[in-house]
Amino acid sequence: MRKVLLIFIDGLGLGEDDPATNPLVRFDPLFLRSLFGRPLVRNLGCIRSDQVCLVPTDANLGVPGLPQSATGQTAIFTGINAPQLMGRHILGFPGPALAAVIAEHGIMRALADAGFSVTSANMYSADYMDLVARRQRRHSVTTLTILGAGLPLRSLPAMAAGEAVYQDITNKMLPRFGITDVPAVDPAVAGRRLADLARRHAFTMFEYFQTDRQGHKHDWDEAAKIVATLDGFLAAVHAAAGDTLVVVTSDHGNFEDFSVKTHTANPVPTILFGPGCRSVAAAVGNLTDIKPAIIAYLKEGDKQ
Ligand SMILES: [Zn+2]
Repeated sequence: MRKVLLIFIDGLGLGEDDPATNPLVRFDPLFLRSLFGRPLVRNLGCIRSDQVCLVPTDANLGVPGLPQSATGQTAIFTGINAPQLMGRHILGFPGPALAAVIAEHGIMRALADAGFSVTSANMYSADYMDLVARRQRRHSVTTLTILGAGLPLRSLPAMAAGEAVYQDITNKMLPRFGITDVPAVDPAVAGRRLADLARRHAFTMFEYFQTDRQGHKHDWDEAAKIVATLDGFLAAVHAAAGDTLVVVTSDHGNFEDFSVKTHTANPVPTILFGPGCRSVAAAVGNLTDIKPAIIAYLKEGDKQ
């Protein structure tokens, strides 16, 4: 069985090779440097090998204005040009029109309907659905993608069993939300947990969004922690992925440029490693290509 792990990182573009503005250059993390021999910046261009690929991926999708989360993420997880469909880039959380698109065309539903085992590794608090019902939280695109496939959200029992990863990777933010009985984990432990889950499903996804939060805030100390966390996490996923194809992508630029507090029009890095990375990379040019490329790879494996 072929396996794909999709790691979605909110607000991570390919920026300048400049330590004054780009945290990925200033902190130059070990694992990301090891992948392509240099920090993850725009002038790396397109890199394709049988081991690891980098595709600078268009997030603007032919629509004027800066790309935003609701439409960009819908493009990734449905394969539909959502900003074009809506006539503009829509920020934040999807409204009813985009929610309907996600419910019908989400990648998890498409794969589940085709008989593939699919899951999301993200842990949600036990009261998450109640908070949404009380309008204190809103479903993100990824949450709607999970719910659209009729799947339950992972929660505290899954975390206790080592079978979930919280959105901040390390669990260190959980006490802020009143959850004090979940121990913090090293990014490497979280990465191994995610890779283990991915080995047991045809398709696994995980969302990390602290990059976008910090891309709007510009706290360099926090940015250093984010870079270190992500690097340790991705290094562990890479080491433990085995025969899983790993696809890392983003919805728009932001974190790579601390000279502006808005999103950027930069391409986003789609990083692929593991079996099939070269052929899947060849099918990706913009955000709408990711869903069909993953589905084609999994279905091709079924024929073998
Ligand atoms: Zn943002």
